Amino acid sequence: MIVGILKEPAPERRVVVTPDIIPKITGWKAEVWVEKGAGEQAFCSDAAYETAGAVVKTRNEILSGANLVLSIHRLQESDLNLMRNGTWWIGLFQPLYNKAYTEKLAATGLTAFSLDMIPRTTRAQAMDVLSSQATVAGYLAVLEAARRLPRFFPMFMTAAGSIAPAQVLIIGAGVAGLQAIATARRLGAVVYAFDTRPAVKEEVQSLGARFVEVEGAADASSAGGYAVEQSEDYKKRQAEKIAEFVAKADVVITTAQIPGKPAPRLITEDMVKSMKPGSVIVDLAAATGGNCALTEKDQVVQRHHVTIVGTSNFPSEMPGDASKMFGKNVVNLLTLMIHKEKGLYLNLDDDILAGCCITHDGAVIQPRVKEFFANPS
Ligand code: NAD
Repeated sequence: MIVGILKEPAPERRVVVTPDIIPKITGWKAEVWVEKGAGEQAFCSDAAYETAGAVVKTRNEILSGANLVLSIHRLQESDLNLMRNGTWWIGLFQPLYNKAYTEKLAATGLTAFSLDMIPRTTRAQAMDVLSSQATVAGYLAVLEAARRLPRFFPMFMTAAGSIAPAQVLIIGAGVAGLQAIATARRLGAVVYAFDTRPAVKEEVQSLGARFVEVEGAADASSAGGYAVEQSEDYKKRQAEKIAEFVAKADVVITTAQIPGKPAPRLITEDMVKSMKPGSVIVDLAAATGGNCALTEKDQVVQRHHVTIVGTSNFPSEMPGDASKMFGKNVVNLLTLMIHKEKGLYLNLDDDILAGCCITHDGAVIQPRVKEFFANPS
């Protein structure tokens, strides 16, 4: 069996698997091929991969020769054309947002796994790239805000006078939000956090932040750890509460998302206008439309004297540890699909594989994706 590691398209700086993980894969009697220069931007040289037991190859050799191909970003049409029917590919192609592409994968005869579809269960935590990469994003969002804010984060009492601590509002206390809370607290800010899931209140408080409450959220307990759509009445009361806290904040970091839907619009232009001059918004939901009405994806803009950061790929800005965590997640997933004697095998009775295996044998097979394609609303 041959496992292939691809180089990511620029400007991505991460690599899907770092050299330290190669011995684990070769231990399954697999050969590992790595595309020339795959880890360069993450400070992993071809020589480091070779020392770890991999063989450096061209992209074409990997696409046409490997049994299992690994990448972070989705493959281009020119890549798919080189792959043999029945090749396995693990990547991140967000099938719920990309119907035509997913159907094309099925037609190409690939067994394609999308890492964003791994269920958010305790057992799957070690394989969850969305969580590991959101941890990086939450951390970097705070550093980015601190660097752009014309004020300190911590409180200071100095001979040059006293400095009040920055007020930081985090909207969405999932993985990215919780990491943002922890990082902002470490820098000495006063932190407020808001989420539609009351279940996160204790976690928010245990990190030293204050939980902003809006009563009457829709029950999300059956949504596998994700948020669900809220009623119009709730949205109205939520908007009033958010407006009150946004006006007081020096920094707002937004991370609210509902899988498969555009990001909820939570910060209006009027709310931006109400902020103090020099305040900063970092909108982590920029890739799915933004939580703030004035966010521009992958741009940093000044609107009404507020800096709005729309960076959609923070993990690429910290490629070393982000790649290391990504690779560890992937190899943990491989333990469910590579057998030392049998090689690759697909056990769809395993809820993790059934969740992330999207196409197989020429068809879209993942039940939630199939249902969503049939009923997109
Ligand atoms: P998550 O699902 O763990 O957390 C999202 C949180 O938002 C949940 O706790 C949910 O309850 C909450 N939420 C949903 N609707 C809300 C609303 N109307 N008001 C308040 N809270 C609401 O997701 P995550 O892994 O933490 O990722 C968060 C966001 O960050 C996603 O949009 C993700 O795509 C994005 N992200 C961005 C980058 C980047 O570099 N910009 C990197 C990784 C992740």
